Amino acid sequence: MATATEIRRDLEKYAEQLVFAADIANRYGISEARVTNWKRRHDDYPVPVFSRSMRNIWILSEIEDWVSAKGIFCENGHDLKRRSSCSTCNYYKAIRRESVI
Ligand SMILES: [Zn+2]
Repeated sequence: MATATEIRRDLEKYAEQLVFAADIANRYGISEARVTNWKRRHDDYPVPVFSRSMRNIWILSEIEDWVSAKGIFCENGHDLKRRSSCSTCNYYKAIRRESVI
């Protein structure tokens, strides 16, 4: 059985990897409701390392791996909104092409 001191030491070591839904929402600039939807709608969404009273704590790297595997955002971090190519990047590419001509 770990002592309180050991638990505290280990938590401090991993603190930056332990995230709530609000932290995940901030990480991607999205609403907390959307993070909740990811969990509800996807069976393969990472399992929290800790849950109590509807509060979950996840490991950030597992969330990041899941988000990138799902292709939710383009390589520049824009929201793809279920499209296969990024309308924001395409828009700026089109503007650049026009300004070259
Ligand atoms: Zn983009």
